[in-house]
Amino acid sequence: MSNNYKIETKCIQSGWQPTKGEPRVLPIYQSTTFKYDTSEQMGRLFDLEDSGYFYTRLQNPTNDAVAQKITELEGGVAGMLTSSGQAANYYAVFNICEAGDHIVSASTIYGGTFNLYGTTMKKMGVDCTFVDPDASYEELEKAFQPNTKCVFAETISNPSLVVLDIEKFAKLAHAHGVPLIVDNTFATPINCRPFEWGADIVTHSTTKYMDGHAMCVGGAIVDSGNFDWEAHADKFPGLTQPDESYHGIIYTQKFGKGAYITKATSQLMRDLGSIQSPQNAFLLNVGLETLHLRVPRHCENALKVAQYLKNHEKVAWVRYAGLEDDPYYELAQKYLPNGTCGVLSFGLKGGRDVSVGFMDKLKLAAIVTHVADARTCVLHPASHTHRQMNEQELIEAGVQPDLIRFSVGIENAEDIIADLEQALETV
Ligand SMILES: *Cc1c(COP(=O)(O)O)cnc(C)c1O
Repeated sequence: MSNNYKIETKCIQSGWQPTKGEPRVLPIYQSTTFKYDTSEQMGRLFDLEDSGYFYTRLQNPTNDAVAQKITELEGGVAGMLTSSGQAANYYAVFNICEAGDHIVSASTIYGGTFNLYGTTMKKMGVDCTFVDPDASYEELEKAFQPNTKCVFAETISNPSLVVLDIEKFAKLAHAHGVPLIVDNTFATPINCRPFEWGADIVTHSTTKYMDGHAMCVGGAIVDSGNFDWEAHADKFPGLTQPDESYHGIIYTQKFGKGAYITKATSQLMRDLGSIQSPQNAFLLNVGLETLHLRVPRHCENALKVAQYLKNHEKVAWVRYAGLEDDPYYELAQKYLPNGTCGVLSFGLKGGRDVSVGFMDKLKLAAIVTHVADARTCVLHPASHTHRQMNEQELIEAGVQPDLIRFSVGIENAEDIIADLEQALETV
C-alpha cells in the first residue's frame, strides 16, 4: 500500500490487498493450520528460512492484514496483534527484558498495566520504578539503573487523563540507550502518532476506539524500526545474540528493522500464545474502517460535555485536556492538536456519595466496565476498578474518591447533555 495515502484512506484501504479473483473484503481464515506439498517446505518455515503460514498461534493471514493496517496507521515498519491490550503491554516489555532487568514506567497508567509491571512482572524478576510523568528531566533520570531496558508511558493516561510529554520521555530513554514504549490507546493514530515525536514502539488495547463497538478484546504492538538495537547490543542480547531455540539465528542480523516484531512473534507468541482470534481480528478491521470518522466525533462531543459540566453549579471539577484551563491543555495543543479523546472525568460537589447517587440516575449513559466505544458509558473507579483501595491509596494513585470517568460516545451531544442534566437535577 502506498505510504503516501492520507490516514483516512489507510483506515479503509491498508492491510488486505486482494489480487485477481480474491475476495474484496478481508476473509476470516478460520483455520488452525496451513498445507504444504513437501516436508522440506514446512521444515524451512520452522527454521525461519522461509516466511509463510503454518500454525495460527504464530501467524494467521486475517490477523496479519489487520496488524499491517495498524502498522501503516502508526507509520511503523512491523506490527502484530495480541489477544488483549494486557498481552500487548506484557510482550512489548518482556520481548527486551528478562529476570534481573529493570524498567521505568510512568505511574499514571491503566490499572491493569500498573498491576502487570508493579506486581506480576516483579514476580518474574523484572523490576519496575514508577515515575511521575510531570517530573523534571533531572528528576526522571534518577530512576535509571544499569539494567534498565525500556521506558513506558501512555499518550493520554487512563483514567487520570495526563497528556505525556513524548519528546521529553523519548530524549530521556535514548540518553540511557533504551527505547520508549508508548501505549497509544486513548489517542489512537488519528489524533497522535507517537513515532513522529521519537517513541520507538507503540502498543494498543484495540478493545477501545479501534474496535470502537465494544465487541472484541484485543491488542496490538507496532515497531517504528528506529531503535538501533545493535548500537546497544550488550543491553539487548535477546535480539543481538544467537537464539538457540531457532538454531542460533540472530534477529537483528537476519531481520533488520523487523527484528523486534519477528522475535515477539516467533518466540513470545510461540511460547506464551496470546493470539487474537481471526474472527475478532475481522471485527476489529471493520471498526478500523471508520476510526477516522468516529474519533473526531468523540472529541467534538466530549468537548461539548466538558464545557457543559464546567459551567454547572453542582459540578466541583472537570478534567479534559481540550478545556483551555486544563493543566494538560498546552501539551495537548502540541501533541494532539486535532483533539484528545472522548473520555473525561469530573466530580460533584458533596463528594463521593453524591457522585455515586448521580450515576444511578443516568439513563442514556450506561454503567459498564469499559471506555472508548460508540455508546456513552460511565464508571466510578473508587467503587469499581479501584475498589480495593482506601481513600489515601486512591489519592496516591491519582484517582480522587469522587472521580466519575465519563466516556462520551458518538450519539447526539444534546441527548448526552440532557441525560446529565436530568441526573444532576436529582442530586
Ligand atoms: C484497557 C486498556 C488496557 C488493557 O487492555 P485490554 O484490552 O483490556 O487487555 C491497556 N492500556 C490502556 C490505556 C487501556 O485503556
